[in-house]
Amino acid sequence: MNVKINEKRLLDTFLKLVTIDSESYHEGTVHKHLLAELKKIGCAVFVDKAGKKIGSDAPGNIIASLKGTRTGKPFLLSVHMDTVKPGKGIKPQVKGGRVTSGGTTILGADDKAGVAVVLEILRTLKEQKPDCGPVQALFTLNEENGMGGAKNMDYSKVKGCDGLILDNESVSELLIQGPEVCDFKVTIQGVAAHAGVCPEKGISALEVAAKALSMMKLGRIDKDTVCNFGVVNGGEVTNVVMPLLTLKGEVRSLYSQKLQKQIKHMKDCFAKAAKAFTKRVDGKTIKPVITIETPQRYGALSVPKTAPAVKLVLAAAKKHGVKLIAGASGGGCDANVMCQHGLLMPNLGVGCQKCHTTQEYLDLKEFYQAAAITLDTVLAYGK
Ligand SMILES: [Zn+2]
Repeated sequence: MNVKINEKRLLDTFLKLVTIDSESYHEGTVHKHLLAELKKIGCAVFVDKAGKKIGSDAPGNIIASLKGTRTGKPFLLSVHMDTVKPGKGIKPQVKGGRVTSGGTTILGADDKAGVAVVLEILRTLKEQKPDCGPVQALFTLNEENGMGGAKNMDYSKVKGCDGLILDNESVSELLIQGPEVCDFKVTIQGVAAHAGVCPEKGISALEVAAKALSMMKLGRIDKDTVCNFGVVNGGEVTNVVMPLLTLKGEVRSLYSQKLQKQIKHMKDCFAKAAKAFTKRVDGKTIKPVITIETPQRYGALSVPKTAPAVKLVLAAAKKHGVKLIAGASGGGCDANVMCQHGLLMPNLGVGCQKCHTTQEYLDLKEFYQAAAITLDTVLAYGK
């Protein structure tokens, strides 16, 4: 049986979806639209309670289940409902094999292109009833703001363990690795003193920071690990020795051990700097007080090349003439979070380019290829 997606319907679905505003935290309207479409298709639909926890105007993530002609574990497809800003009043334009925005907004192909592909696949399976196992489609909230939807998903309702995330740029990229990320927040409390009268009685939080940073490895640490400070706050006037400084940074690594090693190195540098600025003033010891917090933002994505979804996607891509490379990314996505819950879901590109800018566009050839590859992967799973 030659099962095929309907490319015209796929494009129409995409064009409709991008005109429904759904900036992060405001996914309510698109959520309602998706629920209605999924019910029309004949899916069993469950909505969890993630919305309230993350402050969205939608009630929760959607978990839609469609039975197949075969039984077994469902294959998972996951996409996110939200977009970045400026994502209000998007006017898509189809021209020369591309869909662009009107130029003043994003297009929202990240991730409405993925959403459209999933809807088209569910419709195709329902209509053409090919030999296929069950499918569960996950529509998450708030991916763009730290994967709040995926972090708060009710995983007891997710019955599969293999699947595919459709939330990457080019169809030739399959993400199987992504970094763990930890924030690195430092507060340096120095000692205030009049800079004109008695600077030697103070401890400049700025100088302590400078000392620590001068000893610190930053930027590219090795091929798997990077580190950056992006925010500095401190001081109010020039005639006071700076008493307080905060630094905000992050450490990313594909490997937890390497990440922890870098965090330890950074903490050691601050400890050495604190020691260097400890001194006696008026018969008393004064020293900088440094507090450091390193909460994990999200865990690593690590899907082995031997995982069923990876093998099936690579085979399907070959069939459709797409040179697919399974590799690593420096960023994070829902796949990172789902990986912590034991779901092995690589992230396939859907033909979206220049995401998160007003120049964002969707390459239609790649979009249709992504849909065909995904359909073949779903059909082949569990056979
Ligand atoms: Zn995305």
